[in-house]
Amino acid sequence: MVQTMQEFRLESRQWLHDNCPESIRKPGFIPWGSSKIALSEDNTLWLSRMSQKGWTVPTWPEEYGGAGLNKDQYLVIQQEMQRINARPALTGRGINYIGPTVLEFGTAEQKSHWLPKFARGEGGWCMGYSEPEAGSDLANLKLRGEQDGDNYRLNGMKIWTSDGIYGDWIFCLVRTDPDRSKHEGISLILVNMDQPGVRVRPIKLISGNSPFCETFFEDAVAKKSDLIGGLNQGWSVGKRLLQYERSVHGGVNTSGAQTREQKSSLADIAKRYLPRGQNPETWHSLRTRVLRLEMNSKAYKLTQQRVIAETQASAPALATSILKVKGAEFSQERIDVQQALMGIQGCGWQGDQFDSSELALTSEWLTSRAISIYGGTSEIQKNIIAKRVLGLPDEKSG
Ligand SMILES: Cc1cc2nc3c(=O)[nH]c(=O)nc-3n(C[C@H](O)[C@H](O)[C@H](O)COP(=O)(O)OP(=O)(O)OC[C@H]3O[C@@H](n4cnc5c(N)ncnc54)[C@H](O)[C@@H]3O)c2cc1C
Repeated sequence: MVQTMQEFRLESRQWLHDNCPESIRKPGFIPWGSSKIALSEDNTLWLSRMSQKGWTVPTWPEEYGGAGLNKDQYLVIQQEMQRINARPALTGRGINYIGPTVLEFGTAEQKSHWLPKFARGEGGWCMGYSEPEAGSDLANLKLRGEQDGDNYRLNGMKIWTSDGIYGDWIFCLVRTDPDRSKHEGISLILVNMDQPGVRVRPIKLISGNSPFCETFFEDAVAKKSDLIGGLNQGWSVGKRLLQYERSVHGGVNTSGAQTREQKSSLADIAKRYLPRGQNPETWHSLRTRVLRLEMNSKAYKLTQQRVIAETQASAPALATSILKVKGAEFSQERIDVQQALMGIQGCGWQGDQFDSSELALTSEWLTSRAISIYGGTSEIQKNIIAKRVLGLPDEKSG
């Protein structure tokens, strides 16, 4: 008998109730596969239960570690998890970026070998795209990959490798044919980071943290069988991977598992922080900003749902650029408004006069500046929208 969506919802609710540990039902660390980060007992239990059920990647086929669910069922699981505040069991570039790319472009052997590992969170994945002379102009990349028997030997470097020091594997765009034009002769290949030819050097930020690294390849070895999507086809395959990344940032990826943080409502923040005797003009302008943002956020959410419903593939294509630009704007505006509402309490760096959520907001504000840069800057997304969505002529043809 075919199960109705309501029956599926109730069954999922019951399963989550029975299987999600109590400590997972609040914000906290979400595993992303790194073998170098020890997991709590509950994180390990949750990951193993969720991956056995196929719910770390619910829409992937069962043979590859998923549950073979459709998009509507996927959304039901997301809603039911949010209902109890459950954190996803797994996130990261494995299930969200390279996983869907292997699913779309991999050979049968690559799918059987890699997809179940991604789904179980076996290995933390880094992204090797940017180089010192190849950021927005990504096709300028120079990391060389030379054929050597069954392998490629890699020489060169990547930069801004997020989580580099914790990575086990890195998917890299590599120049496999330097004689071809800039956009040709590139391949996407999977590289084991635990080998003598790969060296990672953290880049220290002003905050003292080192979320990014430089990654050096000195005769590093990658297997030919780990080249995804065909030799010298990396520009098309790599761009599709970027759409998977942007669809995660834009909240419309139904292939992996997205993290969705529960944000405090701006109205609640205003009630807590705005003194009753607030200058009416300030109050009016803040109220207008809060209202506009809440309305825009609702419209954005509805647009996400419409895009998901209309997309046949596991992630939309060009719509990801639009959603990434607008998502970045709304996220940055939300934090700006939150800071404006909190006044000095929203700008603390250290000291007893700030509680932990207030201190966290300052670092969140700093981090939020990067949203319009990573995964391709907002300017580059606008170029894509102008050329590929609106069909506007570019400078040269104008
Ligand atoms: C938090 C964070 C995490 C990251 N993680 C990774 C990672 O894990 N792996 C990885 O490979 N990379 C990563 N990156 C790098 C990221 O992809 C690049 O920073 C981004 O693509 C921009 O490249 P760039 O920094 O070289 O800037 P540039 O390309 O030098 O751009 C500088 C400025 O010029 C503008 N610009 C450049 N070209 C144009 C144009 N044609 N039209 C209009 N404006 C233009 C840009 O919009 C930008 O404002 C990360 C970046 C950040 C901030």
